[in-house]
Amino acid sequence: MKKDLKLVFLGPQGSGKGTQAKMFAKKYGYKTFGMGDLLREVAEKDSELGKKVDEILDAGDLVPNEITFDIIKAKMSELEVGGFIMEGFPRNLEQATVFDALVDLDAVVEFSLPEEESLNRLLYRLVCPNGHIYNEKTLKPKMEGKCDVDGLFLTRRDDDTEESIRNRLKIYHTDTRQVLDHYQKINKLVTVDGEQKIEMVALELEEKLSEL
Ligand code: AMP
Repeated sequence: MKKDLKLVFLGPQGSGKGTQAKMFAKKYGYKTFGMGDLLREVAEKDSELGKKVDEILDAGDLVPNEITFDIIKAKMSELEVGGFIMEGFPRNLEQATVFDALVDLDAVVEFSLPEEESLNRLLYRLVCPNGHIYNEKTLKPKMEGKCDVDGLFLTRRDDDTEESIRNRLKIYHTDTRQVLDHYQKINKLVTVDGEQKIEMVALELEEKLSEL
């Protein structure tokens, strides 16, 4: 595996892009950032901007591009040379244009997942404050309501309502589809089957990235 790949991970909601980014980053010593996580930090702030972002996240809409550009530029300037995984950005063509001018990406990975499976995974998703993820139906914690790793209380994300999930999926299949088509045209798109077990997804991902 090359050490300094510059990667983007995209996928419909619940496709495991965040989980895979964290696993891959830990194994290969990469830095990883999730645009959704960075925006949730902004939303928690007691400010006008925080309130605005919080409302947009709950509705499942995309935050205005300018806000994401400020975040991405700050993150990219923090990075010294080396590899990274950017998860959940770019999600529309304008974001892709700005990002392409900032970095020469090696690959954009799409974790594919059928729409109904996305909905199932998110409606039953439980998250721990440190980012460990469970599912009430398919991946229950050992003790109800508590994280296996650090014992913290598990909660639902505010935007994991059926209405918000459907809205996020609609945006994915319109705006983000254009981003995927763009990277396919320039031979940078890698597709991984996100419906497999977590370990199998990780294996397919490593195989495909080691070919780069
Ligand atoms: P995620 O954690 O990736 O599911 O993202 C959660 C939410 O953050 C999304 O539903 C959007 O409201 C917002 N968000 C994440 N990435 C972006 C982006 N690249 N552009 C605009 N909004 C975003």
